[in-house]
Amino acid sequence: MLKFEIATSRGPARTGRLTLTHGAVRTPVFMPCASLATVKACPAPSVEATGIEMLVANAYHLWQRPGHEVVRALGGLHRFMGWERAILTDSGGFQVFSLQELRKVDDGGVTFRSHLDGSEHRFTPELVVEIQEQLGSDIAMVLDECASPFDRNYNLEAIRRTHLWAERCLRAHSRTDQALFGIVQGGIFEDLRAESARVLAGMGFPGYAIGGLSVGESKEDMHRILEHTVPLLPADKPRYLMGVGSPEDLLECTARGIDLFDCVLPTRLARNGAVFTPEGRLNLRNAAHSEDPRPIQEGCPCYTCRNFSRAYLRHLTMSGEILGLRLNTIHNIHFLLTLMSDIRQAVLEGGFAAFKEAFLSRYRVADPKAREDNRRLWEVRDRS
Ligand SMILES: [Zn+2]
Repeated sequence: MLKFEIATSRGPARTGRLTLTHGAVRTPVFMPCASLATVKACPAPSVEATGIEMLVANAYHLWQRPGHEVVRALGGLHRFMGWERAILTDSGGFQVFSLQELRKVDDGGVTFRSHLDGSEHRFTPELVVEIQEQLGSDIAMVLDECASPFDRNYNLEAIRRTHLWAERCLRAHSRTDQALFGIVQGGIFEDLRAESARVLAGMGFPGYAIGGLSVGESKEDMHRILEHTVPLLPADKPRYLMGVGSPEDLLECTARGIDLFDCVLPTRLARNGAVFTPEGRLNLRNAAHSEDPRPIQEGCPCYTCRNFSRAYLRHLTMSGEILGLRLNTIHNIHFLLTLMSDIRQAVLEGGFAAFKEAFLSRYRVADPKAREDNRRLWEVRDRS
């Protein structure tokens, strides 16, 4: 089941409501990652308290362990992980294709070795649909081929295969309480993106993702590709930009018409002791915080900021205490969800451009060295 209603659009930016089997989601939305059926370090009540409306789990990781049949036998993914709201599952294509040396691809599917034990396996479009149907997510993704964004010849081949697989996924998909999204590929090449958007739009998916961005290309390239691709997708269907979630990206990409986002960034940064503030990232490992009685962010209503000082969080982080990981994660998720809520409000009231400018004039974007970390997402073990 899927219903998408756009309340307001101001230029490309828009806000609306996506109704799924497990509840409604206000868009644009940021979906934290629960790749292995958990938001790392956070039990469900803590996650619920942050106001998350939809999580992203990963078919590749859950197929590998504990196995999608096990999850199904235990009542499906929602019941398994004690989460009653919406879940989107990524097909696992990104993970398989990031196993660089461990895979072989042909038109039928992709053969690869597990990153856990080296055993050989094969993903086909049909299997990827079956895994996600058994998991029972609200939104499932097709199997796509993720190529290096700069390799034109490879991207030509990859979109041909991606379209072939998208059609097979559509044919194999049978659950009416689950929506299957197509994924546009084509690297940094405008004509290939256009071709991919055109072919997939012709297949009539209930929603479209843009994949293969934020994998090492420049911000300028990412923005250019979005400006070129988004207008070619059906305006009345949700658009999902995969793997993007820094505060500045959420603003810039909402401005270019994106409705759904997911990224490991807020939770992974939190586990490394980096937390978001309106002025930019703050590293709790910095000695400057060792006697600081202030919360991470003055006035932040999250559980972490209401109760604990930077000095305490730094102490927990430096000591590797599990509570530190949890508290930092709660704040980072809360920060991004608050940002999305402010974005929705600004779009609704017609003040999005001014809001974006005000936020970005105050927020110090992480330096290129820190952004470089993003490129390492192109590695499966880190991706979860
Ligand atoms: Zn907070």
